[in-house]
Amino acid sequence: MVKAIVGANWGDEGKGKITDMLAEDSDVVIRFQGGANAGHTIINNFGRFALHTLPSGVFYPHITNIIGNGVALNIRVFTDELNSIINSGVPAPSIIVSDRAQVVMPYHPLFDAYEEERLGGRAFGSTKSGIAPFYSDKFAKIGFQVNELFDDELLRSKLENVCTIKNTLLEHLYHKPLLKVEELYKEMVEQRELIAPFVGNTASFIGSALAENKRVLLEGQLGTLKDTDFGIYPYVTSSNTLAGYGCVGAGIPPTMFESIIAVTKAYSSAVGEGAFVSELHGEEAETLRRLGGDKGEYGATTGRPRRVGWFDCVATAYGCHMQGATEAVLTAVDVLSYLDEIKLCVAYEVDGKTTTDFPSGAKLERAKPIYETLPGWKCDIRGVTDYNALPPQAKDYVAFIEERIKTPIKMISTGPRREDICNRLA
Ligand code: GDP
Repeated sequence: MVKAIVGANWGDEGKGKITDMLAEDSDVVIRFQGGANAGHTIINNFGRFALHTLPSGVFYPHITNIIGNGVALNIRVFTDELNSIINSGVPAPSIIVSDRAQVVMPYHPLFDAYEEERLGGRAFGSTKSGIAPFYSDKFAKIGFQVNELFDDELLRSKLENVCTIKNTLLEHLYHKPLLKVEELYKEMVEQRELIAPFVGNTASFIGSALAENKRVLLEGQLGTLKDTDFGIYPYVTSSNTLAGYGCVGAGIPPTMFESIIAVTKAYSSAVGEGAFVSELHGEEAETLRRLGGDKGEYGATTGRPRRVGWFDCVATAYGCHMQGATEAVLTAVDVLSYLDEIKLCVAYEVDGKTTTDFPSGAKLERAKPIYETLPGWKCDIRGVTDYNALPPQAKDYVAFIEERIKTPIKMISTGPRREDICNRLA
């Protein structure tokens, strides 16, 4: 059966740590969407790692790690990341890359950067990893599946076609240097040599693993509010971040899902543009940003300061619902220990009306937070592993959120390390 770990919010909820923890009891760990535009932070016996492309099971020798067909595969990032974990002393992991996964081409990050430059003040805050141009090309059917790299004739003729299209844009829209078929061809031949040892039929591998009752873990990137369809469009990522997309992005039958674990942080944080109803500014934000996460709230991939705010019950209830969450994990509760009192956004006011439904588009932009305030616990809870040992104010905070997000909170994370975790319900 399949367990999925996904984000209920804007990403950076602490999925990396939870996946690393739960990976230990899995046989297969799968990435099914997104690319190297976000990262998981994992802190374990080998050190502190920001994984962008590799599945989180790479630290365990018993796990088969899969890069599913839905992923935007940047081959050079993949090899660099693999070499860097091996150089840190991690034994060479077992990895299979789907022969149907598509490749982030050398021009995708360029187009991402050129488009942000063209948009100027209206930019989306892209990480410039090429994800939007990659998925556009995938659906325009001018992308490259990994298997296509191994067919010389096809590779050349597709590259010729792509260069005709791209060079028109480069010349007339972006005024940038043109692509050369021969250079691209040489680069892709090098890249195919790098990826060749890992390529396989992952859908068939997963099918057999499920038939043998293997424990399969789906690892989500970002969160509901960055989903192309259900997120804060257009300030979203270019792939679907919902657990349900695992069916498409890895080839898993929908009937195989056993549990969907939505990870949400005890306060809100987001990178990039877009509506963020419970956002904090000024000194309050600065303090939370400095004390948040394991090293402050700065992006694992970009190092950009994250926007921070109070916990948003409206956005998170929606986030859990759209994920189909069977349970939730509340992370970074330890971060809030400095606060005398803690606000939670319990509803939005939109055009004079109070709502707990997460709105779309311009309505969301106009939404104002309605807060309730709970007392803080004002003592250090980092590393607490016994739920009952938490101060009553912390337990009340968890219970308050649980009721509003309508999802049982089964685990509470009290620090960035793998062992900083309380199980709540037996
Ligand atoms: P992901 O994208 O959801 O995997 O999130 P990241 O791992 O990039 O970001 C979450 C940040 O919070 C990282 O710096 C983690 O080390 C840190 N983190 C995760 N859980 C906890 C926790 O319970 N307490 C604290 N203080 N930090 C945490």
